[in-house]
Amino acid sequence: MNVPARLEANIERRPSVCPHDCPSACALDVEVIDGQRIGRIHGARDQSYTAGVICAKVARYAERIHHPDRLLHPLKRTGPKGSGRFARITWDEALEEIGARFNAAEREHSAQSIWLNYYAGTMGKVMKDGINRLAHAKKYSRHNGTICINLAWPGFLAGTGYMAGPDPREMAQSDCVVIWGTNAVATQVNVMTHALRARKERGARIVVIDIYNNDTMKQADIALCLRPGSDGALACAVMHILFRDGLADRSYLEKYTDVPGELEAHLQTRSPQWASQITGLTVEEIEAFAKLVGTTKRTYFRLGYGFSRQRNGAVNMHAAASIAAVTGCWQYEGGGAFHNNGGIFKWRMPLVTGADVMDISTRWLDQSRVGAVLCGDADALQGGPPVKAMLIQNTNPVSVAPDQTRVKRGFAREDLFLVVHEQFMTETAAMADIVLPATMFIEHDDIYSGGGHQYIELAKKLVEPPGECRNNHEVICAIAARVGAEHPGFAMTPRQHIDAALRTSGWGSIEDLEKINWRDVQPDFDTAHFIKGFHWPDKKYHFKVDWQHVPFGGELSGPWRDMPNLPDHWAVNENPDEDHPFKLATSPSRSFLNSTFNETPSSLTREVRPTVLVHPQDAAQLNIADGDKVILGNTRGEVRLHAKYFIGVQRGVLISEGIWPNHAFEDGKGINTLTGADAPAPYGGAAFHDNRVWLKRVP
Ligand code: SF4
Repeated sequence: MNVPARLEANIERRPSVCPHDCPSACALDVEVIDGQRIGRIHGARDQSYTAGVICAKVARYAERIHHPDRLLHPLKRTGPKGSGRFARITWDEALEEIGARFNAAEREHSAQSIWLNYYAGTMGKVMKDGINRLAHAKKYSRHNGTICINLAWPGFLAGTGYMAGPDPREMAQSDCVVIWGTNAVATQVNVMTHALRARKERGARIVVIDIYNNDTMKQADIALCLRPGSDGALACAVMHILFRDGLADRSYLEKYTDVPGELEAHLQTRSPQWASQITGLTVEEIEAFAKLVGTTKRTYFRLGYGFSRQRNGAVNMHAAASIAAVTGCWQYEGGGAFHNNGGIFKWRMPLVTGADVMDISTRWLDQSRVGAVLCGDADALQGGPPVKAMLIQNTNPVSVAPDQTRVKRGFAREDLFLVVHEQFMTETAAMADIVLPATMFIEHDDIYSGGGHQYIELAKKLVEPPGECRNNHEVICAIAARVGAEHPGFAMTPRQHIDAALRTSGWGSIEDLEKINWRDVQPDFDTAHFIKGFHWPDKKYHFKVDWQHVPFGGELSGPWRDMPNLPDHWAVNENPDEDHPFKLATSPSRSFLNSTFNETPSSLTREVRPTVLVHPQDAAQLNIADGDKVILGNTRGEVRLHAKYFIGVQRGVLISEGIWPNHAFEDGKGINTLTGADAPAPYGGAAFHDNRVWLKRVP
């Protein structure tokens, strides 16, 4: 009798952690089959933020880890750049060539001609951040990772002085959850777990504020679909109403905030009528929202990364968080504003990062301006030498970076020696001279902490990597040995790094963590709710901002001197004009995560093809039928894709979900052809949702 293979297999459930660039950092329960393969991945039930729920794309991870197209061996380019012609080589050959070429670049053009470029393809501390140790030990150019948080974090920090807030699990204790600027259903599903629990158990109202009727907004009790970049105007009008109608908590304002009187006077002219013109919301919608948050003490503002995709994002984030200071909802369980918990972990891990040998006089190249850097822009190069050699880990700039035309031109340079350590032949790997095969998270040890929650989480190696894949740490240490880099961190194993990072940061040892898998480090109520004061010398929440001295640690960029110093609508965004009548946002899709999952069959099936959502009345005016092939364009370039009618968006706004590879578009130009890389204020970043464009049907 034939017994199905699955019945014969030995399936163990083992703990792990989702490594992807997502605030949920879910605790996982992985089916390991015969110690070699994985089956279904589940959310861990004994980690109270994950609470047994993960997104579908990670539940199906077996199709990614066991994908037939995974890179398995080191490769060397044999044809022109980007031709896709590679020959298999040994690890020794690859590492010798990398060492020789890096040393030659250092000799001929200085150490700063070498740029080790990375980002959040894994959020594991050892595998993500160890690349900095090599950069610092050799005084290569430093990497300024601006692309995700730089337009949001300074806004939150400007008010609170600290990147943390009320326990995200407290959403379940709220009477009103405001999900603002995050499509949580698609990008951090656990927010919904706790918000929906509040609705079910307490009758809480869920308000969703976003720029289109996405999957999260469809679950809202109150949906506020505003124009991109108008969040600050909405926030100011809400605060205007709160002061006007006696809903501001004046004793809280007096005790906990810096300039309540000045704010109230400033907001006199920020009426709902004024905000209606800017946001496209009705006066009634604004009034109703203000009344709800002004009369519901337990209101939890969950502020997302959508703020970080607009040129005025920092000002908007600060204005939105300021509502919580006017209502005083910070005081109550289930109340306050939250963006990220980065401050609570207090990581100190110089053995991983090499921060102890960092020389801040070495230049700090902006990841968001990689196109300008590689094309030799003197400003982007900060007056230093051209970049002649690169190692890239955990990022795919040829798909995800803004200003794609320049990015592609830069990576096509024949005089650039490019090494890409990757899991698949991404568009960036295809431009490399040497491609190195990388492990996935279940194939190495690492440690994680959740931006959206309060756990430190251990993920141990569960299966052997396929082929000759090596983890990031091994590769960094092997290159270090060939370029003469010295640091004690190069002699340590990942396990030793995890243990040292835990001990140095005051979180016990790896043995302690192994017993529990995830450690809850949530601060007590008073600390999380700023009951003892905010993190400024005067202990006040700051309505009045000195953008130059926000405790963010970035490099001041763009028109930061022009930023308003009180909550406001800052009209610095790309506004539509006669030649570019539409506003385009490149929002995240549900089945991709940036360019990760671009190769996964079920994700490709679900996402179908590159599409732009267009209001039917806008489409009709341009003679565009549902499903027509259209061109989007602006001064940066043109992109061809298909139009899809969509009524859940304001007139004049276009949404293109997901980052598809360039080659998925008819003429090989991806959506980031249209996005800008102009280093917005105050600390740079990439305003991915802030693009004026024109639209026309393909003739
Ligand atoms: S929701 Fe985010 S952290 Fe959780 S499994 Fe999905 S991608 Fe990973």
